[in-house]
Amino acid sequence: MKKELVIASNNQGKLREFGAMFAPLGVTVINQGALGVEACDEPFFTFVENCLHKARHAARVTGKPAMADDSGLCVDALGGAPGVYSARFAGVDGEGKDAANNAALVQKLQGESNRRAHFICVLTAVRSPEDPEPLVAVGRWHGEIVDEPGGEGGFGYDPHFFVPELGKTAAQLSAEEKNARSHRGQALLAMVPLMRSVWGWA
Ligand code: IMP
Repeated sequence: MKKELVIASNNQGKLREFGAMFAPLGVTVINQGALGVEACDEPFFTFVENCLHKARHAARVTGKPAMADDSGLCVDALGGAPGVYSARFAGVDGEGKDAANNAALVQKLQGESNRRAHFICVLTAVRSPEDPEPLVAVGRWHGEIVDEPGGEGGFGYDPHFFVPELGKTAAQLSAEEKNARSHRGQALLAMVPLMRSVWGWA
């Protein structure tokens, strides 16, 4: 049987990363846009709810198994913010979005000594929109928020996300170093055995 998995995203970078991870299962990944699926809303307060909503939407429109991801930064001293609002923390879209989000983050933590934070990535996969047993995999990457940005790599909050055991920010890591320990890498590693055991995708 041909195994296809629709990815509820149009991000080419993610498609490559997911494709590489699922290749050993003989799975072909397809971006939802290639099948005419429009991005859906993300109306919920939690990563897992938004993620499941996106996967269901892609499965409903395409009639194929689908997987979605949702990720963000959660800062302890901010009660878990920016959380599901990570991409639009400063209310800016497009060009300059990352710089504005990072400036808002540093400003909100002014005078705060508790710098603990983590990135989270949730992956959900469904065989159909009515699937009673969605596969859910979660990865977390712990670090500290620093005021001074460091590094040129990565994206989003990476220059302000310091990883104490490496003595570097996420933006100072190579793509390979980041993938080996990141929230997304960990969630993907957890999803593959679920597809093997629950879906029988070997
Ligand atoms: P998305 O789930 O890929 O749309 O990510 C949501 C937002 O979370 C991004 O726009 C970033 O602001 C933030 N984010 C998620 N993962 C990372 C990461 O690995 N590094 C830096 N920021 C991230």
